[in-house]
Amino acid sequence: MIYQEDTIVALATPTGTGAIGVIRLSGPDAIKIAAGVFSGKDLTKQESHTIHFGNIVDGDSILDEVLVSLFVAPRSYTRENVVEISCHGSAFIIESIIKLLIKKGARSAKAGEFTLRAFLNGQMDLSQAEAVADLIASNSKASQQIALQQLRGGFSTQLQQLRDQLVQFASLIELELDFAEEDVEFANRDQLKKLIYEITRVITALIQSFELGNAIKQGINTVIAGRPNAGKSTLLNALLNEERAIVSHIPGTTRDTIEEVLNIQGINFRLTDTAGIREATGAIEQIGVQRTMEKISQSALLVYVFDAEQITPEELNSDIMKLQKPGVTLLMVANKIDLLTPRQIAVLPAGAIQVSAKQKQHIDELKVKIYAAAIKDQLSGNEILVTNIRHLEALQKTEESLSSVLNGIDTVTSDFLSMDIKQALYYLGEITGAVTTDDLLENIFSKFCIGK
Ligand code: GDP
Repeated sequence: MIYQEDTIVALATPTGTGAIGVIRLSGPDAIKIAAGVFSGKDLTKQESHTIHFGNIVDGDSILDEVLVSLFVAPRSYTRENVVEISCHGSAFIIESIIKLLIKKGARSAKAGEFTLRAFLNGQMDLSQAEAVADLIASNSKASQQIALQQLRGGFSTQLQQLRDQLVQFASLIELELDFAEEDVEFANRDQLKKLIYEITRVITALIQSFELGNAIKQGINTVIAGRPNAGKSTLLNALLNEERAIVSHIPGTTRDTIEEVLNIQGINFRLTDTAGIREATGAIEQIGVQRTMEKISQSALLVYVFDAEQITPEELNSDIMKLQKPGVTLLMVANKIDLLTPRQIAVLPAGAIQVSAKQKQHIDELKVKIYAAAIKDQLSGNEILVTNIRHLEALQKTEESLSSVLNGIDTVTSDFLSMDIKQALYYLGEITGAVTTDDLLENIFSKFCIGK
């Protein structure tokens, strides 16, 4: 345990008025400092994991009636002594209590400092600490689950095991260096190759998971496009089940883009309704059209809506040709099927999902298709997804250094091989926190909120 000398304090609940506010103290003197302002029992004589009712007092004046929870080291979030004071949620009371605690020897916590201490004290590894931040920021079931998975030690456990095996090889190769004249091989090159392949396989899968992981964390960018009057706004409303976008009868009136979030089975889709894609004549529409194409390029998913009653096969073809972009999954939606005869419906393009936005027909089916198009078969519930750009970069660097190990394994001398392996170990360690620098920690924890 890395011993932190000072005791930190911060409000753990959001600022502003609430029913209660929770002030957290952590550090060697947490209990002593709290005891000094608490009237009731002597807190220093109480058991860990107990709650006590009493007043917070500053000399003769009572600041508030509170509940104090005690967590004696190492059985706490930070593994230090932790005290949580639940007071009434007035900004004035909270500020007064925090000021008093600072007067009694505590220091204002920096952003993420509680979690930094938890990390430094071995309570969690770095990727778990980052998961705490993700968990706090999660805004959908899927992003919450990914963060939770990571918090439970998801991929860092797996990487740590592989890293440990690689460390063993590294030390065997180091040993070879000591016996350089005798030309011995302690590290079995075939086994080393096997291990490198195995690590590379895991790393590559993790790198590939980033695209989906990141999309889930941010929400999947989805564009609804189609000619004016195809029913885009109506469809957007039907999907959202609300009257949000402005529905109009005049072609080309939805000129700007509207963004809404649609949640399907726990995944957030960021839906953008765009202006019509018809060859524009007016200047304003032109901008809209150009923005449509830009929006599509930035998206993962394109929902192309057409008026099944009005559109000609030639128009349909030319739209699809124009809209298809590499990397963007295209879903075709034949709208207004309520206006069609069964015979007309029968000749609609086979790949098109048939809906009536206005009558809200087959909207659930469309949602299922949207989900399937975005997620494919990549999400079964237990997989590990990388959502953090820092992890992605470290994984990519690991992958590169592993490939130099492989390239050199049969040709280079032990000392070069040893260097390549060390390089790979370094990047692997950066992910789990086995290797850290002050800059790295500063960078990660400064993004947390104060009090976490
Ligand atoms: P946008 O320009 O693509 O956004 O089209 P709107 O959503 O504004 O719809 C254009 C017109 O088509 C409006 O009068 C809608 O009421 C109508 N409309 C949209 N969807 C349907 C549908 O499924 N069936 C019928 N009959 N009319 C629809």
